[in-house]
Amino acid sequence: MRIKLDRTMCDGFGTCAVHAPNTFSLDEWGYPSLVGGGDIAEEDQNGVKRALLDCPAHAILSLDEPTPIPAGGEAGISRSAGPDSLWEHLPVHNAVPKNGPVG
Ligand code: SF4
Repeated sequence: MRIKLDRTMCDGFGTCAVHAPNTFSLDEWGYPSLVGGGDIAEEDQNGVKRALLDCPAHAILSLDEPTPIPAGGEAGISRSAGPDSLWEHLPVHNAVPKNGPVG
């Protein structure tokens, strides 16, 4: 998994560092920088996916290729902020309705 942080979009809420402290380091004003340049280790990916989905400013972008939808299969949930595969490994209590996020 590879991500990019758009600091021009960031509002400094710090949610990303709460979910993925190994990936996002906050400065003294609460603005994050990427630790490791955006290449995410396997063990940090769930937290980073959570941060990506929860970022209120959509400042975290996935650079991974979208997962193709299999022919004849159910259409995946998509969102402009990332590929369908982002939704696959989240815990059930964080699941998004099949029709997509509400609101
Ligand atoms: S969650 Fe988003 S808006 Fe908040 S500090 Fe992280 S990148 Fe910035």
